[in-house]
Amino acid sequence: MGTHPFLQLLSSLLFPALCCSCHRTLGASARYRAICDMCSNRIPRNPYPKCPTCGRRCTEPRTSCHTETPFVLLAATEFATPEVRALIHSLKYRGIRDAAEPLADLIVEHLTVALPMLGMERESFLLIPAPLHPHRKRERGIDQTACIARALERRLPHQLTLEGSVLVRTRDTDSQTEQPNRKARFANVAESFALREPTPLVDANVLILDDVCTSGATMAEMVRTVRSARPRTVLGVVAAQA
Ligand SMILES: [Zn+2]
Ligand SMILES: [Zn+2]
Repeated sequence: MGTHPFLQLLSSLLFPALCCSCHRTLGASARYRAICDMCSNRIPRNPYPKCPTCGRRCTEPRTSCHTETPFVLLAATEFATPEVRALIHSLKYRGIRDAAEPLADLIVEHLTVALPMLGMERESFLLIPAPLHPHRKRERGIDQTACIARALERRLPHQLTLEGSVLVRTRDTDSQTEQPNRKARFANVAESFALREPTPLVDANVLILDDVCTSGATMAEMVRTVRSARPRTVLGVVAAQA
């Protein structure tokens, strides 16, 4: 941004963009600047909205079959896929913002398929990215979920309104990946979110966005917090389910 075209050309010759997954040099015709077409085409797409705990297909937006995770999950793809892991890792830990673009496309593709299955294809949504604690953001230098959220809003400007500041972290939790078991994951995130401004959420359709959903504990806690403002519906949306 704002870089002279000659410097951009020079930089692309000196540091050609590489596919985050297979590490081949990306050609000028590649669809993305973070992953090659071959790798991105290999990513499997999830076919329907599901219960975050047992994976059962959901047909209505209210709740899933498991009370521990009482929300419907819209997961674009699976974290077990090496190409997906590479994209998320590049964005989150290497600060490669271009990696948000293919992830956003995967999510849009999934919303296009999954929202009609819930009878919600005509609805407008508030898009709330999972907030990162300020400490974490300083440490990492990037808020990966906010990056994906902006890319999503650019793709669906008439359907999504980004609400980046209504949901906040009230405490810095330990990393979910370091928790020994499922129960510990739920305990670790309990009471860790709050609403700064509940008014926009009243009677709204809300999509809560995160990069990855593992046990569903963090998403369940965000859903619980958002529901206190009495929205019409709340759905969980992630690039990948682990
Ligand atoms: Zn590749
Ligand atoms: Zn279930």
